Amino acid sequence: SKKLEWRGTPEAPKTVGERLSHALVHGITDFITEDTEEAYQQIVVQGGGRPLHVIEGPLMDGMNIVGDLFGAGKMFLPQVVKSARVMKQAVAHLVPYIEEEKRQQEAAGLDVTSKGKIVIATVKGDVHDIGKNIVTVVLQCNNFEVINMGVMVPCHEILARAKAEGADIIGLSGLITPSLEEMQYVAGEMDKDDYFRIKKIPLLIGGATCSRVHTAVKIAPKYDGPVVYVPDASRSVSVAQSLLGDGKQAYLDELSADYDKVRTQHANKKKTPLWTLEHARANAAVVGHAPVVPRTLGRRVFKNFDLAEIAQYIDWGPFFQTWDLAGPYPAILDDEVVGVEARKVLADAKLMLQKIIDGRWLQANGVMGLFPANRVGDDIVFYTDESRSQVLTTWYGMRQQTEKQAVDGPDGRPVMRPSRCLADFVAAKESGIADYAGLFAVTAGIGAEKKDKEFEAALDDYSGIMFKALADRLAEAFAECLHQRVRKDLWGYAEDENLSNEELIKEAYKGIRPAPGYPACPDHTAKIDLFKALQADEIGMTLTESLAMNPASSVSGFYIGNPEASYFNVGQIGEDQLADMAQRRGMDVEELRRYLAPNLG
Ligand code: SAH
Repeated sequence: SKKLEWRGTPEAPKTVGERLSHALVHGITDFITEDTEEAYQQIVVQGGGRPLHVIEGPLMDGMNIVGDLFGAGKMFLPQVVKSARVMKQAVAHLVPYIEEEKRQQEAAGLDVTSKGKIVIATVKGDVHDIGKNIVTVVLQCNNFEVINMGVMVPCHEILARAKAEGADIIGLSGLITPSLEEMQYVAGEMDKDDYFRIKKIPLLIGGATCSRVHTAVKIAPKYDGPVVYVPDASRSVSVAQSLLGDGKQAYLDELSADYDKVRTQHANKKKTPLWTLEHARANAAVVGHAPVVPRTLGRRVFKNFDLAEIAQYIDWGPFFQTWDLAGPYPAILDDEVVGVEARKVLADAKLMLQKIIDGRWLQANGVMGLFPANRVGDDIVFYTDESRSQVLTTWYGMRQQTEKQAVDGPDGRPVMRPSRCLADFVAAKESGIADYAGLFAVTAGIGAEKKDKEFEAALDDYSGIMFKALADRLAEAFAECLHQRVRKDLWGYAEDENLSNEELIKEAYKGIRPAPGYPACPDHTAKIDLFKALQADEIGMTLTESLAMNPASSVSGFYIGNPEASYFNVGQIGEDQLADMAQRRGMDVEELRRYLAPNLG
């Protein structure tokens, strides 16, 4: 048939090299074992070559085409990951031959000439690894040997492994802000260790929360070797090549000049002046409302929530970002440049989603609770029952302290922009108004590890990354779905709400569900009390030492019902707020300083 023309016809036969190239470029695994075997027969059995020559010859030729097309922006990440899957399966077919040769020749001069060895890991306390796995695949495609150590890897294990393997480069990944601190720690430990400092083993920094500025200002100064921020997977190749190639010194000089410039700019940057906490509090906006009494108070567990129902709430937008395809959904499907690939990857996603649902590959568990709650100062106090005499938990709020300007009000007269704090959306205790608020934690990641191992064993990175991306989508969708049920039923303040999926994604509803670690409540420690109050461990959710949620595909936060409530960015806070909060929480100032570091200048 026409579909198989690439395999050649009796009139127009294709060489095995051509077929392998086609399979690699188009990500087709169907014939890879037999084609690899044919190449082996030709090159080794008949040609007297070595098994390695099959890799270095036709397979690398094909991967070089992939690399060039990717570099030129003519191929996109999902395709590259599929190509890598073909390559892995071809190499896997050759491994027994290579080992057999090794046995026979006692490894004389048998050196797989990779471009370099890279040890890569998600740092201690962090469980996110989609980005790291993508970087691994892309580097492997480009003939780097990558040792992927997985997630939550302690510093000493990373460094020990790098030594044992004789790694040329170390790569660190992390998604949540506490991981930035862990990366600084790793840089510092490398500096203390002659092995790394003298060899100047480069350290690569990646992951969504990090940035070039953070790397230059906070991490690079801790280590006397090269520290390089890598913004995305496609850049990892050129960075690794520059660090290990002939132009290394020129690259390092340029890098250090660039980071010097970044540091100077950062130091000279005009900072918005801070008000005192007292002044900021005086500029708070009291956002009054008439609270609706929830239909159901107290904690509720949802085990084995219907995945098919959750799937209806999926926001596909971030899914394409995971695959490095730029553009808003659904317009991206018709995009001139990435449209075709966006459609393909979405079709693959929907196929797998159906398998996840039908095969129960994942289990979705959630726990939430609505409680009597009032604002006390900048905090929201949750009570166990309507008598409001016993505190269930307290959510300690952070207030904006950056100087505010006046803007034109509705009547043309200037009004001051308020200094926001999430607690301002909840009625104050002294007002006597009986207000309410909620807590929630949901996960769609139960069972993910088992399936993930299966994909790993099948040498199928494409499905592995797809699976994790879908688990993340389902977790967010679960949060959306449960939040809707809260508004329409469990709390019931918006029982007539009737929003389209698009409107839900825009969060056009009344009320918000702020999540710890996000700009309006950047303090990750809030999750400790939140998880305790919800007894989240009962549904299989826990926190790591860096306060990442485990399983990775999880969402947690608070429900605020005030129709005026909205998100904002707390930004920089002052020493006075740090001290005040430490006192409110009965916590050591220095300990709290560590957690709030990103907001403390
Ligand atoms: N539809 C998206 C939802 C996640 S992003 C998805 O599927 O990925 C939006 C969520 O992030 C919000 O519901 C809220 O929980 C959180 N969030 C966004 N901005 C925030 C802020 N400034 N402060 C606190 N939480 C915020």
